Amino acid sequence: MTFHAKFSGYADPALHAAGLYIGGKWQSGSGITVLDPSTGNLLAEVADAAIEDAQRAVDAADAAAAGWRATPARQRSEILRRWYQLMTQHAEELATLIALENGKALADARGEVAYAAEFFRWYAEEATRIPGEFRHTPSGSHNILVDHEPIGIAVLITPWNFPAAMATRKIGPALAAGCTVILKPASETPLTAYAMARLGEEAGVPPGVVNVLTTSNPGGITNAMLADPRVRKLSFTGSTGVGRVLLAEAAKSVVSCSMELGGNAPFIVFDDADLEVALDGAMIAKMRNAGEACTAANRFYVQAGIHDAFVAGLTARMKSLKIGPGYDPETQCGPMITQNAVRKIDRLVSEALAAGARATTGGKPLTENGYFYPPTVLENVPVNASIAREEIFGPVAPVYKFESDDEAIRLANNTEYGLAAYIYSRDLKRAMKVGKRIETGMLGINRGLMSDPAAPFGGVKQSGLGREGGVTGILEFMEPKYFAVDY
Ligand code: NAD
Repeated sequence: MTFHAKFSGYADPALHAAGLYIGGKWQSGSGITVLDPSTGNLLAEVADAAIEDAQRAVDAADAAAAGWRATPARQRSEILRRWYQLMTQHAEELATLIALENGKALADARGEVAYAAEFFRWYAEEATRIPGEFRHTPSGSHNILVDHEPIGIAVLITPWNFPAAMATRKIGPALAAGCTVILKPASETPLTAYAMARLGEEAGVPPGVVNVLTTSNPGGITNAMLADPRVRKLSFTGSTGVGRVLLAEAAKSVVSCSMELGGNAPFIVFDDADLEVALDGAMIAKMRNAGEACTAANRFYVQAGIHDAFVAGLTARMKSLKIGPGYDPETQCGPMITQNAVRKIDRLVSEALAAGARATTGGKPLTENGYFYPPTVLENVPVNASIAREEIFGPVAPVYKFESDDEAIRLANNTEYGLAAYIYSRDLKRAMKVGKRIETGMLGINRGLMSDPAAPFGGVKQSGLGREGGVTGILEFMEPKYFAVDY
């Protein structure tokens, strides 16, 4: 394990960890390089798990399973609560680590740590409220008693765009439910996951209850774990493409799947919207994490009467953002995660420009070191351009003009995705009526941010299966068991 000078200068040494975490033991190793996306320089090198490590992780999760399942809910709850407190105490170090390896602006990284920690607090509370059910059969033949049991060992796979929150959103409910887990974080951002595992140890998570593996062979490792009959759950957050592959793999051993996949959120602004409120919301929905969010507004549909004022206002706000490394406290728009991410954004924007769109600001990658793309606004974008179909995952706001409510609904639903959507109108009745017809799992009305640990997060169509957070999130890690009872 190696930490390079810049990393060591910024991060709290107590949170330095880069080896596999299996059965409560740290196993050093190397093979995966972690880069600073604002320079392309090496930050650290972490262990690269092989198939045998994955098998050992399943053994460790299995060895801990019976004890954790039998641990009283109150005790599980208190461990999660301590983990929440430790994350809060170490919020600044964790935020710096996220800003370093992911590149997001510190303000966004701080927001993520607070959001991530809240999943532990929420599930500390939910752990003690696991529901059951008692009913009489309509025929009077017997009684129906429904218990909820922990589903079993869970494999948790997370993306690089929220390295802390995507992990806690899975670990929190899994541990609250009584499951043991193996977390496989994205290899671009493993340091945050390992730092959190350190805090989990300090919070009193017993050995083997949480195991963490980084690997350059995610397919091989995951397939090996899914083939093990002791693994009963796969909870995945990432792209729809990888989600499809994993669903097929999980089908072979009929493993229960929760899938949080890609998005293509429409952001609809009606003529009667409060322009300033809509612009504030647009900046949050587009620019949180520099656009690298599954809920990011990907298509701005703006009604003809307010269109020009919205484009002018959005352009002015986007132009004023300060670009720089995430860990520079002045930065408002950090780098993209990789050079490939910049290339993809460049392709989508170039195709839109060639098809007749106009950039009112930005429009091509920055040439300095690091993986930077500037905040960009496009107007006059053809509604069938590839930028309207694919996730941009960057700081680019394509704006499309519409006339009628029906047209806005038709355009918004014209996608295989259905994760998030936004509506701006002063007329709540209109917003609710349109909202009912939008195919989405989540809808912000006059709000650019909807994520909350107490709310069910997830999508419809090809944006996923299941919900994380809220009161039902814990049930993704439980199986109902029906007792037919005569007495
Ligand atoms: P990705 O699908 O490339 O990778 C996600 C994770 O899957 C990573 O840990 C990666 O190592 C792993 N992976 C890749 N191939 C695998 C395989 N064959 N088997 C097992 N694991 C494999 O996604 P990404 O680029 O890391 O993240 C961006 C995507 O995630 C976007 O599409 C975004 O919308 C989505 N996302 C969705 C949500 C949500 O809650 N719906 C939240 C955040 C991100």
